[in-house]
Amino acid sequence: MSALVLDGTATARAIREELRGAVEALAGRGVRPGLGVVLVGEDPASAVYVGSKTRACEHLGILSETRRMAATAATDEVAAVVEEYNRRRDIHAVLVQLPLPPQVDATRVLDLLDPAKDVDGFHPDNVGRLVQKRARFVPCTPAGIMELLARHEIPVAGRRAVVIGRSDIVGKPMALLLMHADATVTVCHSRTGDLPGVCREADILVAAMGRAGFVRAGHVKPGAVVIDVGMNRITDPHQARDMLVPERLAEFEKRGHALVGDVHAPSVREVASALTPVPGGVGPLTIAMLLKNTVRAAAAAVTE
Ligand code: NAP
Repeated sequence: MSALVLDGTATARAIREELRGAVEALAGRGVRPGLGVVLVGEDPASAVYVGSKTRACEHLGILSETRRMAATAATDEVAAVVEEYNRRRDIHAVLVQLPLPPQVDATRVLDLLDPAKDVDGFHPDNVGRLVQKRARFVPCTPAGIMELLARHEIPVAGRRAVVIGRSDIVGKPMALLLMHADATVTVCHSRTGDLPGVCREADILVAAMGRAGFVRAGHVKPGAVVIDVGMNRITDPHQARDMLVPERLAEFEKRGHALVGDVHAPSVREVASALTPVPGGVGPLTIAMLLKNTVRAAAAAVTE
């Protein structure tokens, strides 16, 4: 058996196209949705993500403004940018690209976000709303995964779901969304005993741990749906040969690096019924949901 590939790129394209009408309706009322991004430091991965997000905004007619700050920026300086975006009427959505450098108090910065502009859903007010199943903004990565499942008509209600990872950004909100969709959810982390055994109970397995190729066939119940959230840059040729198809391996040999997920796709593909690829799975969906939340923030500001 070879798993169905859950094409995140195509699903993300469909979501973006559906947003066009809403953007045009707002334009008719003289409003262009605006996203303000705060990017602190020179982390290459963060710069790539922000680049993809701003290009996607522009493509859809959303204004996007990125404030690039030195890696040495102090908490007060970052906070001042967030407060400026909070005040501005042309900015409806604010995104603070994580991780922030260690000297910046990320909790203080995120707590300052206007909850009505917090399109990543990280502010405690939005987290509380999500817990109570009355979310304003759902964090983009888990929201995108729920869209992917729904649009592929993968049933969630009554099924066993296992989420590997308990971060505020992915694992915890993912578990909440699956529970709210009536799955029976187990959350795993680095202290979980018999991780493969727990994972094998899953009808839906979400890997969000940041460990390249960690989840192998032995973690997967035959026929399970596997969602690979991981985005890991590998440089080890041995690992590349173990994980990449020939075409991507040739690319790795030219560039010296490749992006892979937390799932060892060559083995898991033979056991699972469906699997998201990396790249081209959860990543594009995260961006599509950011656009969706930004348009919603602008629409909500207009009707205020
Ligand atoms: P994170 O904050 O580092 O959290 C990782 C989680 O995985 C932690 O809860 C950790 O457990 C758990 N974990 C680590 N090693 C483990 C092990 N050996 N066994 C069991 N659990 C283990 O990471 P994150 O921000 O959630 O991101 C996870 C991955 O998703 C990363 O690769 C990241 O790049 C990727 N990501 C992708 C997107 C996208 O758009 N595709 C978006 C966000 C993140 P403890 O809590 O016990 O430490």
